[in-house]
Amino acid sequence: VAGKRINPRLVKKHRLYLIGELAEALGVHKNTIRAWLNDGLCSVDGRRPMMFRGADIIAFLIKRRDKAKRPCPPGTMYCLRCRNPRGPAPGVVDCYRTNSSSCNLQAQCEACGAIMNRRVALDNISAVMPGIAVQFQLVPARLKESLNAPSNCDLGRGR
Ligand SMILES: [Zn+2]
Repeated sequence: VAGKRINPRLVKKHRLYLIGELAEALGVHKNTIRAWLNDGLCSVDGRRPMMFRGADIIAFLIKRRDKAKRPCPPGTMYCLRCRNPRGPAPGVVDCYRTNSSSCNLQAQCEACGAIMNRRVALDNISAVMPGIAVQFQLVPARLKESLNAPSNCDLGRGR
């Protein structure tokens, strides 16, 4: 789902945002922001209530927009380092369940070796990764929790 187009310029780079403030600034629902947490939006480490740095939000929105411009064809995942869809390196694509109906596929980029992630509905795995071995991984409870509510910046993951 490409979703609504959101203008990163609505966010002030040097401001901190609460979820509600961010939702209002961008004209989206709070739940949309919560969903972005699963997509890699970072909140300020250890802060409760959760706060977001303007610069992190802008980086996330730009990345998300780039991704929407280049939908990944079947058999590929978006490589953040190559900034392009890439095929997985030979081997196995790991699959981590994120909830009852979707999962996060993880593999190494065949071009640069960076870790790539792609969220798919469980029903879509064979369409998204045709002919590619996908191995289901058990996510430890601790990690699963942090997938739902990351408390630090993970933009650098996989570099
Ligand atoms: Zn790559």
